[in-house]
Amino acid sequence: RAVARTIERVCAVIPDYPEPGVVFRDLTPLFANGAAFRETIDALLQQFEGSYDVIAGVEARGFLLASAAAYAAGVGVMPVRKQGKLPRDTYAESYQLEYGTATLEIHRDDVPAGSRVLILDDVLATGGTLAATTRLMERAELSVAGIGVVMELDGLGGRETLRGQRVSALYTA
Ligand code: IMP
Repeated sequence: RAVARTIERVCAVIPDYPEPGVVFRDLTPLFANGAAFRETIDALLQQFEGSYDVIAGVEARGFLLASAAAYAAGVGVMPVRKQGKLPRDTYAESYQLEYGTATLEIHRDDVPAGSRVLILDDVLATGGTLAATTRLMERAELSVAGIGVVMELDGLGGRETLRGQRVSALYTA
């Protein structure tokens, strides 16, 4: 697809970042390119047309995608935040990192129970981040309409971790 070629052309590939042996995919050149950014947002929305009431983005790069997509779709945006940033009652879900754990939070009452949520993030790797995000939605009695990512890193088990969810990746590396 055309959008996959755009992503491949525009994104930066950084070997040995943040540590030796890791190949880091940097999407900031895509965010900075107006035509490529619009093409990406439009393609993400096209996968899930009409199936959601609100769009959630995972801190921090997911915020950029979710807010642009929500504005274009005319729905609200929901920030999935790192621990300790939200001032009112939250649900919290932790997940494993290579070293230690991380925790994500949402406000309990920002979005009415029963709403359908489209979750967006930049990169799907092991799926730990997005699996914790889907658990947060379940805790809040929200239904996950789908998960959209710009890029999926193959061979890290992300799809298996998210089995049962509708996952769409615009580009697989
Ligand atoms: P996962 O939880 O292992 O699927 O990792 C996904 C999270 O880590 C996402 O929030 C991404 O932003 C980030 N991430 C993992 N690998 C990369 C990468 O190569 N480039 C940019 N972000 C990445």
